[in-house]
Amino acid sequence: MKQFTVKVRENLLKRRADLFELMDKRQKERTSNGITLEQDLNEQAASEQNDSIIDALNEIEKKELAEIDNALRRLELGKYGICEVDGEFIDEKRLIALPFARTCTQHSES
Ligand SMILES: [Zn+2]
Repeated sequence: MKQFTVKVRENLLKRRADLFELMDKRQKERTSNGITLEQDLNEQAASEQNDSIIDALNEIEKKELAEIDNALRRLELGKYGICEVDGEFIDEKRLIALPFARTCTQHSES
């Protein structure tokens, strides 16, 4: 389990960095496509729509980041890989597929 959590932590931190990079890149693209004075109403509408798509995408990543942070905290507390419902160890295969799983297969609601 020890070796396994070290690997999990590495993967979570890497994923976390990737997500930040992705959101940062998206933010920069948005800034460079900023509204100009010559822009007509259609373009402005498209740009606003694009903004809301970006916001929606960022929302998904923010949720994943929150899950990653939660998993990292549980790793530090030594509670990682333990089902929140019954306190049993979560199967490693499940944790590999879903690194921030908080419950065992039996108690997963999704
Ligand atoms: Zn359980």
